Amino acid sequence: MNLLKSIFKFKCPRCRVGNLFLNNNPYILRDLNKMHKRCDNCNLKFSIEPGFFQGAAYVSYGLQVLSSLIVFNCFFWLTNIRWQNIVYILLFTVILATPYVVVLSRAIWLHMFIPHKGDF
Ligand SMILES: [Zn+2]
Repeated sequence: MNLLKSIFKFKCPRCRVGNLFLNNNPYILRDLNKMHKRCDNCNLKFSIEPGFFQGAAYVSYGLQVLSSLIVFNCFFWLTNIRWQNIVYILLFTVILATPYVVVLSRAIWLHMFIPHKGDF
């Protein structure tokens, strides 16, 4: 499994087999952000240190800003909708995307710090 597939399927960064989250569907909100403590395949401890996943907030912020810019520019340049109304569309898409972005940013953050076992 390649890096991007591993990130988007929320797999363990080291073995790319075990699941990161108890439930891979981020829209089941009661299970949002609930992670396995260790990989059930290679026994990697996911939380490297206390507060490790606070850094994922920076990734989340970056993803939301990037997606907002893309959505805004698509609507602004490709439609005749006034920019004031595009802001409402933007708000809606940001709220809708938040659970997925939160989970995805954790997966990206982990993959940034833990190399794949075949990469070293
Ligand atoms: Zn693993």
